[in-house]
Amino acid sequence: MHKKLFIPGPIEVREDVLSKMSTPMIGHRSKDASNLQRDITNNLKKLFYTENEILLSTSSGTGLMEAAVRCCTKERAAIFSIGSFGDRWHEMAVSNGIEADLFKSESGSITRPEMVDEVLTTGKYDLVTITHNETSTGVMNPIDEISKVIKKYPDVIFCVDAVSSAGGVKIETDVLGIDICITSSQKALGLPPGLSMCTISERAAEKARLVKNRGYYLDLVLLYDTIKKKDYQYPSTPNLSLMFALNYQLKLIMKEGLENRFKRHLAMAEYTRSWAKKNFALFADEKHASVTLTTVDNIRHISVKELNEELGRRGFAISNGYGQLKEKTFRIAHMADLTLDDVKELLLNIDEILSIE
Ligand SMILES: *Cc1c(COP(=O)(O)O)cnc(C)c1O
Repeated sequence: MHKKLFIPGPIEVREDVLSKMSTPMIGHRSKDASNLQRDITNNLKKLFYTENEILLSTSSGTGLMEAAVRCCTKERAAIFSIGSFGDRWHEMAVSNGIEADLFKSESGSITRPEMVDEVLTTGKYDLVTITHNETSTGVMNPIDEISKVIKKYPDVIFCVDAVSSAGGVKIETDVLGIDICITSSQKALGLPPGLSMCTISERAAEKARLVKNRGYYLDLVLLYDTIKKKDYQYPSTPNLSLMFALNYQLKLIMKEGLENRFKRHLAMAEYTRSWAKKNFALFADEKHASVTLTTVDNIRHISVKELNEELGRRGFAISNGYGQLKEKTFRIAHMADLTLDDVKELLLNIDEILSIE
């Protein structure tokens, strides 16, 4: 039996979106391929509220995160982390030989804007990374306030991991001054895994030209220049099947309307949070709770593993806590094309299993 996925990636994918993956192939150097990428770009620009260029990578989001820190750091990167995905960005920098420092907040907390200011005011850093939505803890950073601080340092390249938020939450890339905003196909966009996308400012591309040893497959300059010079095509063969599905899904997203989509996500989040507060507790401070997933503090000490096994028999899957938070928390994703009714159905089943009145 198929389990409906309430896990923070891969998320549940609509049947009609899935079926677009079996569209017959086209040549990746054909006019059709250029048109496909151009359509995708136009809609992704709307989704990211940007005039900047859009790049796709046939890798999951981690690929573009690695690309950003490797290609655009000339001096030193300031990596702000509020959990596992922030930590990972630091590991990527270090393993690529990039000078980088990790500034970590306590688990469950945000990156405080004052912290970013203190770090950048040293003048040591030319790139900063921020996790918008930390999927390991269910915390959403106050990106508006953080971006106001970063704007005081116009020479610093501003990179954002929006992997588990873009498409579910409004991110006004250009208003916020984000140079590289990254997401993956399998989260709030509601597609299978295997493709990632980012916005890239001209400033970031120019900066990258000054950096040596950018690698090849994930060289942002090569991707950027090829898109510009070769009529929206890629240096190597892209994942056309996912591009067909992405193009179709973006049209559905525009039909729903971005504002409506963000409202639907917020309604699912609010419902899940109030359920969590009534029956357990929220792991994150509610002010900074994620809109795309809820991390529930397991104060009743239920067995999350057993709950999930029983949910599985009923056709649902949720996520255990991440890493050290396993069994101490559990995570319910409410993103992409899931609806408030889907969320209500899931929570009713959890109530039944745990005999919650
Ligand atoms: C899932 C996730 C990633 C990793 O993305 P992949 O597409 O799995 O490489 C990075 N950051 C956040 C916040 C995520 O949720």
